[in-house]
Amino acid sequence: SIQNDNPIKNWDEKRQQWLRYHYQYQTHNSKPRILLVTGSRPAVCSNPVGDHLLLRLFKNKVDYCRIHGIEIFYNNALLHPKMFGFWAKYPVVKAAMLAHPEVEWIWWVDSDAVFTDMEFKLPLQRYSKHNLVVHGWSHAVYKEQSWTGLNAGVFLIRNCQWSMDLIDEWAKMGPQSLEYEKWGKTQKLVFKDKLYPESDDQSGLIYLLLKENEKWGDKIYLESEYNFEGYWLGMVGGLDNITKGYTEIEKKVGVLRRRHAEKMSEYYSEIRENYSKGVEKRPFVIHFTGCEPCTGDHNPVYTWEACWNGMQKALNFADNQVLRSFGFVHPDLLNSSLVSPLPFDFPLDG
Ligand code: UDP
Ligand code: MN
Repeated sequence: SIQNDNPIKNWDEKRQQWLRYHYQYQTHNSKPRILLVTGSRPAVCSNPVGDHLLLRLFKNKVDYCRIHGIEIFYNNALLHPKMFGFWAKYPVVKAAMLAHPEVEWIWWVDSDAVFTDMEFKLPLQRYSKHNLVVHGWSHAVYKEQSWTGLNAGVFLIRNCQWSMDLIDEWAKMGPQSLEYEKWGKTQKLVFKDKLYPESDDQSGLIYLLLKENEKWGDKIYLESEYNFEGYWLGMVGGLDNITKGYTEIEKKVGVLRRRHAEKMSEYYSEIRENYSKGVEKRPFVIHFTGCEPCTGDHNPVYTWEACWNGMQKALNFADNQVLRSFGFVHPDLLNSSLVSPLPFDFPLDG
């Protein structure tokens, strides 16, 4: 039967009980467990380069998760037959919460989002009183009532009853619902800048923030202090310069290839000092929303080439942070095939 026919009840108690029986998973003082969940459609991409891009986008997430000890789940099954497209993630997130009572947070990351700072860690402490974290701005949500006031492509959601209830409420605006068409019209009326007539999840969440704020508002954190995710168009152009800035610091401190523990604090303080001099920080996540790498049906305001080049740059920029400890670098962010060796600077050599 369909998930939504049987809403989950008393999940907090059930999860607590599960944790009592599986005490090896109890967290106490250790950091809360995170499961990163991502995925793509069941079928082959119609764009001939789409599956190649999906592979590289997935590799990027695997790299970030490996470095940070985060578990990852990739789903490409449609768990609810009517919840296609971006709506597909909600049945998956719900199923992941039930399948993994040991994790405190599910971190949904769209397939078209790229981790571009492999060192950055989520400031989880900041979210300890919240159940949902999205990138967004309260003035854009509440004052401008814009459908891009927040972005639903990357979110952290706490494994709890509140989240189950929110997803049920949210999914009522999706294609699984008999009121799907009605919701499209309602959203178009509320959000003057909304591009298309079909109900979408992002507008749906903003709608809940606006119309049912007393029910959900205080548990939803709008993050805008760093790029929890950021819109690719204005970001990819700066990646070459950011690379230059970091490379200079790495050369100066001598962490070009190996990350010597004794040099890392020097490296970080040098980076912080340079931030204060106006050197740009690496963005954490770049989201290629609108590019549609799998279908190729990108937003017509930019070219497919702009999307493709942007993705190459972001993926190679990220891969350089991974490859360097293996002794290699992509010297040209647009040329994915080319790598150069880095000098081996193991401290006993010198
Ligand atoms: N997705 C999925 N299964 C599907 C279709 C989409 O898991 O059948 C996921 C995929 O990760 C994709 C996300 O839903 O990145 C949202 O869609 P998309 O990124 O195309 O939307 P945009 O960010 O461009 O608005
Ligand atoms: Mn996306």
